[in-house]
Amino acid sequence: MRYIKDNGTRISVRGDGPVTERTLVLAKPDAVARGLTGEIISRLEARGVRLAGLKMIWIDEDLAKRHYSAHVGKPFFEGLLKYITSLPVVAMVWEGPSAVSVVRSTMGATNPAQAQPGTIRGDFGMDISNNLVHGSDSVESAGREIELFFKEEEIYSWKRPHEKYITGE
Ligand code: UDP
Ligand code: MG
Repeated sequence: MRYIKDNGTRISVRGDGPVTERTLVLAKPDAVARGLTGEIISRLEARGVRLAGLKMIWIDEDLAKRHYSAHVGKPFFEGLLKYITSLPVVAMVWEGPSAVSVVRSTMGATNPAQAQPGTIRGDFGMDISNNLVHGSDSVESAGREIELFFKEEEIYSWKRPHEKYITGE
């Protein structure tokens, strides 16, 4: 086992196997309002990534602008700020091999109207402005976003007794 320490996002890599990563997930205001937080957690647990951190947080404008800094100036930005600050969100860190892409594929395409059935967005949404869930789009974004929402001591790396049957770790 080779251990990598960058900003805490890449954890370790087994030989030439997948890198163990951390990623930020948000159950967004519409998911919280609709009582779909548990569904989102269940789907990620069932897929096999490990929940490593969790808190409810009411995002203020400053945090919203930092989290979505890549979208400043886009036509949907003002609406996105209003939406993401409209109710509390449930912020989570999930960990596991290739966690960033595993979470993204579990979420589905950004526009729920185009997301595949079987994905969270494809099963529960229709509207791009209310797409239920956020997941970091790269290991680099994950590192930046996790730092915005969590202190290192609020994140736990742990393993299940039968971990090798789930992630191979
Ligand atoms: N969004 C929107 N309208 C758009 C594109 C994006 O309201 O035309 C919102 C939506 O909530 C999306 C977020 O902005 O999840 C961030 O957009 P991004 O392209 O990063 O999508 P994601 O990474 O969330 O799939
Ligand atoms: Mg994004």
